[in-house]
Amino acid sequence: MSVLQDLLEALRSRRVEVVDLTAPLHPGTPILRLPEPFANTIPLRLEEISRYDDRGPAWYWNDIHTGEHTGTHFDAPVHWVTGRDGEDISQVPADRLVAPAVVLDFAAESAKDPDFLLEISHVRAWEAEHGPLPDGGWLLYRTGWDARSEDAAQFLGVDSSGHDENGPHTPGISVECARWLAEQTPVLGVGVETVGTDAGGAHSFDPPFPCHSFLLGAGKYGLTQLQNLSRLPTTGAVVIAGPLPIVGGSGSPTRVLALVES
Ligand code: MN
Repeated sequence: MSVLQDLLEALRSRRVEVVDLTAPLHPGTPILRLPEPFANTIPLRLEEISRYDDRGPAWYWNDIHTGEHTGTHFDAPVHWVTGRDGEDISQVPADRLVAPAVVLDFAAESAKDPDFLLEISHVRAWEAEHGPLPDGGWLLYRTGWDARSEDAAQFLGVDSSGHDENGPHTPGISVECARWLAEQTPVLGVGVETVGTDAGGAHSFDPPFPCHSFLLGAGKYGLTQLQNLSRLPTTGAVVIAGPLPIVGGSGSPTRVLALVES
């Protein structure tokens, strides 16, 4: 039997399960909020064209208004100034959109400390137990933040006024670890449950937003606002990420699926 026939049979018999890692996309889906003086993106908005009415008696359709970085989305290298000469979202090779993934679970640490940062030592300890990070695969960083994804203030780690003096509080990755993941490990990119790959406090790091700076600068990728990482095995999942090939785009809302052996 062919490999693809084997896969279809495994899907039919549920020996392989499809896990949806994508947050539902609606006008209330939390989006990044940058402080003054920076420009911000918009939430998703549907603009009805017709709905079985005079404007189109047998059909319903909408125009969509959204940012490239709204909801579960894919960061292309060109998103950051360090990657400005790199791929835009349409140039990410299709064969890199199907890739192995491992899950590093720091939900307990993040629950205790919303400013928790992943360090090189954490990843080294994980590798000692589970093996090397996947060559050309995703490091999926579980923080438990997906449970907050329908409450914008909790999800974004801000108080009701929007920001406190120290900025938002969400977990992330240290400067040293971000540089190491970008430059010294074979990963394709980093996937997170938070609104962006960087910590809420990363505006004050040196350099600011190190995940964006180092990973995108190294031609690697980011996946954000993932859900259901708790349903994935520590190793062995295959992730299928489908950003829209927006020509010249810096990213795209993305359906992210994982294939998991049961
Ligand atoms: Mn982004």
